[in-house]
Amino acid sequence: MSLLNQYNSLQSLGMALRDKTFSARELAQDTLQRIAQQPELNAFLHVDADLTLQQADAADVLLTRGNATALTGIPIAHKDVFVTRHWRTTAGSKMLANYVSPFDATIVEKIQAAGAVHLGKLNCDEFAMGSDSRNSAFGAIQNPWNKLHSPGGSSGASAAVVAAGLALAATGSDTGGSIRQPSAWCGVSGIKPTYGTVSRFGMIAYGSSLDQAGPIARHASDLVELLCTMSGFDERDPTSLQDCHGKANTGERVRDDYQQWNARFAEQGSKPLAGLRIGLPREYFTSDLNPEIARHIDAAIQHFESLGATRVDISLPLTREAIPAYYIISPAEASSNLSRFDGVRFGHRSASYNNLEEMISRSRAEAFGGEVIRRILVGTYVLSEGYYDAYYLQAQRVRRMIADDLQKAFSSCDVIMGPVSPTLATALDSNSADPTASWLADIYTLGISLAGLPAMSIPCGFSNDARPLPVGLQIVGNYFNEGQILALASLYQQDTDWHQRQPEAE
Ligand code: GLN
Repeated sequence: MSLLNQYNSLQSLGMALRDKTFSARELAQDTLQRIAQQPELNAFLHVDADLTLQQADAADVLLTRGNATALTGIPIAHKDVFVTRHWRTTAGSKMLANYVSPFDATIVEKIQAAGAVHLGKLNCDEFAMGSDSRNSAFGAIQNPWNKLHSPGGSSGASAAVVAAGLALAATGSDTGGSIRQPSAWCGVSGIKPTYGTVSRFGMIAYGSSLDQAGPIARHASDLVELLCTMSGFDERDPTSLQDCHGKANTGERVRDDYQQWNARFAEQGSKPLAGLRIGLPREYFTSDLNPEIARHIDAAIQHFESLGATRVDISLPLTREAIPAYYIISPAEASSNLSRFDGVRFGHRSASYNNLEEMISRSRAEAFGGEVIRRILVGTYVLSEGYYDAYYLQAQRVRRMIADDLQKAFSSCDVIMGPVSPTLATALDSNSADPTASWLADIYTLGISLAGLPAMSIPCGFSNDARPLPVGLQIVGNYFNEGQILALASLYQQDTDWHQRQPEAE
């Protein structure tokens, strides 16, 4: 059993490192060995043992001196959409197959400054477009719970490595669900914070008004530490927030809020959640939802009720409309963001061309995968003269209405709970002739992203299959209420062990 499977929380692993049960180097070596033993997961795109061990040695110096932080020596891996100075950054695309950035993304820099040990770069859907990790130019990723199934996407490998014990935590990006949905399918915990609280500097852009980075780990309490490290105003990101409803945008804000919520719950004794109203959108619980998932979500809500919370029926009437709105706005932004990949400024350059125009079009046609091309075409179309008003502007109006509906819902409830995905992890060989069919499965995550709200997924059960597949519960907070949803998730995880379960080796 790997060290990370034995010590699978920040608290226990950090304690073992500080007590010198093993060194950061020994832990990194053990983890690198496990990574090398599971190549079939196809989760890592770039590992460099020497670089990792250098970081582990630096962590050991801090641990010996006694000035370690909670993250010092902790093995972490980054989704390959965050640029890194020493590791290649591909965004899962042939376009960037050999790209090495001259700088680190802000979140990579911050996590490194806290002393974490970087294990390498994680496979993902190309440019974070997808929901099942089959869109990577470097091959599909497996779900450690059942290797014939998808780990979800686009941060599929980020969730898979945490589930498989190949990293204690991983970073992910969520544009329309890509942290929450793979966390649900892999039985781990992940949070997408309020838009603007974590810097996007150095994160390869997909839909800039939606993209947000966040952490994935087993325990919600670990997400607190990671999110504190990642959060904060960054002048290099023009949409980075300075102010979060009267509080400065810092990591301490998340920690203080989390601690205040914990204290408030503790004060209420045996009914820690007395007074908490959980909104259940009636549009989420329809026949489209897998009944096994519905059952586990209901059981989780019952657990919150046993702690004093009450259910409130709410309506999010534009739940379905979030799908077309998102799949107009995100491709529109993607078509603009991806125009920089032209074989001149960035990216693959075709070997044969007769003129500049041909060079650009051939380079793009050769290096972008089918899904990326589809979205560039959709995006260009909806932004073109004559269609802009009919599609793009209309989608923006729907986006505003969805955000307003959510605010209305929060006037009668404190948090919203529901499923993350209508299905369990899908089979990797499932085939659909309709490329947009998978877009429909994003129904529970897209509206939240369009509104920019914080949301997380935590494990709340497993299917009855011979090789059981995990089920995730989505918890959505109002703007800047990361501390509240993390405290609720931690409370749930004190009483349940879904997040502790580990896949059996196949
Ligand atoms: N599945 C959604 C999409 O394909 C979400 C992806 C994401 O959040 N990066 O766009």
